[in-house]
Amino acid sequence: MVARQDLTTDPGLQEQLLQARRGTAFFARKLNELSDAELDGGSLLPGWTRRHVVAHVGYNARAIARLVDWASTGVETPMYPSVAVRDEEINFGATLSPIALRNLFDHSAVHLSVEWRDLPDDAWHHTVRTIQGREVPASETVWMRTREVWVHAVDLDNGASFADIPAAVLERLLADITSAWAARGSDAGLLIKVSGTDRTFGDPDAAVVVAGPLAGVVQWATGRGTDGVTAGAGPVPAAPKWI
Ligand code: ZN
Repeated sequence: MVARQDLTTDPGLQEQLLQARRGTAFFARKLNELSDAELDGGSLLPGWTRRHVVAHVGYNARAIARLVDWASTGVETPMYPSVAVRDEEINFGATLSPIALRNLFDHSAVHLSVEWRDLPDDAWHHTVRTIQGREVPASETVWMRTREVWVHAVDLDNGASFADIPAAVLERLLADITSAWAARGSDAGLLIKVSGTDRTFGDPDAAVVVAGPLAGVVQWATGRGTDGVTAGAGPVPAAPKWI
């Protein structure tokens, strides 16, 4: 018998799985709103059409499913053989027919969801390695996918915005980005304030204070615009590189 429900009994993980699946459904909705011809249009990512974004999100689900498989079987299966192979695959995927591209997204998303569903509690703790070389528990794959589907739905550039992303996802994204900056020291002189809260990130003695609502600050931090974001009386600086 195949389980119809997630095998994990961890309520925190179940909540995270819900967030990933909601994000996948949101991406699917924005993709379905695009006509086949509109897939040829530009995305928010430099050099990428919407086709590239859809191909990337599809192949990303397959790559993450390989990590879940690794956790389940103990047989090492990397996300991608290399970054070059990953990039070639995206360029190839972008040339697929619209129906094949939509199928790639749909099938890979369902497959990943099933892999997660059937992963038993203990296997969620098994260590796998991301393409950046980070060793993480298999449970981290849920967050890896969550941020991909939500942010790339915005990248499709057909109406989704950071305000559509749940606050819990935005907060974790901001924590991820600011800790990546802190690890590289690229946030020197920069303080980020989330308006309506007492949350701040970065250098408390900073010369530049970037402030705005959570959605605006995360949009800015990911390098995708500055809606509602201010930096005192001056112009809003470009955010440090994230990935
Ligand atoms: Zn991505």
